[in-house]
Amino acid sequence: MTYPIQKTDDQWQAHLQAQGAEPRAFDVTRRAATERPFTGKYEAHWADGSYHCICCGATLFDSGTKFDAGCGWPSFSQAVPGAIREIQDTSHGMVRTETVCAQCGAHLGHVFPDGPTPTGLRYCMNSASLAFEPPAP
Ligand SMILES: [Zn+2]
Repeated sequence: MTYPIQKTDDQWQAHLQAQGAEPRAFDVTRRAATERPFTGKYEAHWADGSYHCICCGATLFDSGTKFDAGCGWPSFSQAVPGAIREIQDTSHGMVRTETVCAQCGAHLGHVFPDGPTPTGLRYCMNSASLAFEPPAP
């Protein structure tokens, strides 16, 4: 699968470091690692603004769709249209739907069909994959 934005692992490492990303951001976004629950910086973060891909800056979620799922990861009921690609993930003996950035293929987390109305979706994300931006003044 190819994405509009392509970098080598070394380039992503350097880019993430330059962005001030968390040390685990590379493993999460490029190796599909999962941060431990209740450890991410956005799990209990409720400011108004938008959430972007830590790798390429694409806008992924609006803070208005974030909700407290109690699962230990930042959760959203809706993604920005077209921002996320869904991939069937059969790792760890489960059938889940992986979510990646449509622009650069960064692993973000998974989406589950147990979210609130109206979408019924729960985008269960890694904080390390996200960069929050407050609204423009
Ligand atoms: Zn991206």
